[in-house]
Amino acid sequence: MTSRPLDVIVIGGGIGGLCLAHGLRPSGANVRVFERGRGADDWVQGYRIHVNQMGARSLHQCLPRPLWETFAATSGHPGPGFGFHTHRRERLVFVEEGVMTGDAGSAADAQYATSRSVLHALLTAGLDGVIQYGKTYERYERGSDGRVTAFFADGTRATGDVLVGADGARSRVRRQYLPQARTVQTDALAVGGRLPLDEHTRAWLPPDFADGLNLVLPPRDSVLFTATFNGERRMERATGPSGFGVDLAALASGVRDYLLLAFIAHRRAYPPGVSDLDGEGLQRLLGTMTRDWDPVLRRVLADADPATLRLMPFRTSVPVRAWPSSTITLLGDAIHSMTPALGFGANVALRDAALLSSRLSAACRGEVALVTAVAGYERQMREHGFHAVRAARRLTGFMISGSPLVRGAAKNWFRLCRNAPALRRLTFGGNWTDTTPQEPERHAVS
Ligand SMILES: Cc1cc2nc3c(=O)[nH]c(=O)nc-3n(C[C@H](O)[C@H](O)[C@H](O)COP(=O)(O)OP(=O)(O)OC[C@H]3O[C@@H](n4cnc5c(N)ncnc54)[C@H](O)[C@@H]3O)c2cc1C
Repeated sequence: MTSRPLDVIVIGGGIGGLCLAHGLRPSGANVRVFERGRGADDWVQGYRIHVNQMGARSLHQCLPRPLWETFAATSGHPGPGFGFHTHRRERLVFVEEGVMTGDAGSAADAQYATSRSVLHALLTAGLDGVIQYGKTYERYERGSDGRVTAFFADGTRATGDVLVGADGARSRVRRQYLPQARTVQTDALAVGGRLPLDEHTRAWLPPDFADGLNLVLPPRDSVLFTATFNGERRMERATGPSGFGVDLAALASGVRDYLLLAFIAHRRAYPPGVSDLDGEGLQRLLGTMTRDWDPVLRRVLADADPATLRLMPFRTSVPVRAWPSSTITLLGDAIHSMTPALGFGANVALRDAALLSSRLSAACRGEVALVTAVAGYERQMREHGFHAVRAARRLTGFMISGSPLVRGAAKNWFRLCRNAPALRRLTFGGNWTDTTPQEPERHAVS
């Protein structure tokens, strides 16, 4: 251990990188986050993020208390549960929220539907001087003194004791450090978009779909996933954390309630040339692909805002074997990107951040050598990260399965679960979120 603070370089100011920076601050480490975006407004704001118990516990661990409380106060509630339906709108089963969360009581054990832009504002708050924007990372070199230097496209460089690649699914840190870790295209192709949730849509949208999570299962090849984002009123009522420079009123003015929708289908179900279609073209195509569906479900697709409709190929990482740990490491999508089928990627990135900040904090206190701390983190990260990658891939396979038998068996099972609470708990309880306890360390109230 040296007597100077640990120098931590984080590449990527996304969900995981920023959460790590917060988690490390109390340790006295000198953290610098290098983000290629030009500024705090340059972030993807397109969709809601479902923060499950794993993500909530991690945010609770890493964020200063006023930011955590603002997160909990401004996030929407994901709704009463998860409904599964046929394409003719028969409700197969409704899984209550308590089944998915294990009836957890505390705010840190709850689930949240948060706006990306609000989450980002909270994660960047209090990090002035820590985040440097407009820094596109290109490569690293190790020095003879064991330190690592990151090089940026603008000709600058930064040297630290440890380099963390939190630079997302196309990570350049990963490509240099672990070239054997690959990502591949899956057979799933989704059309994602939003239906505004206002008095007009609420007038015709069935209550099931106006609040909560839903999955529609036609006989084969595709599914429709919907989720409500209803943070608008909570945003307006909440007060911002004082001293963190978060202008909640300005943020609230950009937040609107909506129904997030994702039509996920096997590539073979789409016609050639689908990638050339604009929003209106995609909307017409969805109308054709769902022509025998219930009219209300068709209306959900037909009334979506065409400007929000996008084609999204699902990619996934391929789990890799353990590697010898060093003073370079990776977190989040940079190492275990997964298909969005489970809505888990951000939650696992947050969990990585919480875990790595605990391990590096222990190294800062001199309780463990730096590489041992990284090795401990990587062991757990690989386990929970690649577990989620495999689970998301399996679920994606089910969603796009061309077998009416597989789909029929699942539907029959869901119908059985409908009237049997014990079966519902067995099937849906605990599979949705990783309930493994987090590191015990928590932030002191600041
Ligand atoms: C449609 C959709 C819906 C989703 N919904 C959910 C959900 O409900 N719940 C959930 O848990 N997950 C969800 N996810 C997944 C989630 O968004 C990601 O898993 C999560 O953002 C990963 O966080 P991260 O910090 O690893 O990477 P990111 O958040 O992608 O951050 C990476 C950062 O690195 C920066 N960067 C990249 N390259 C460089 C470079 N060379 N130099 C400097 N900076 C760089 C990027 O600009 C970015 O800011 C969804 C994904 C999609 C596509």
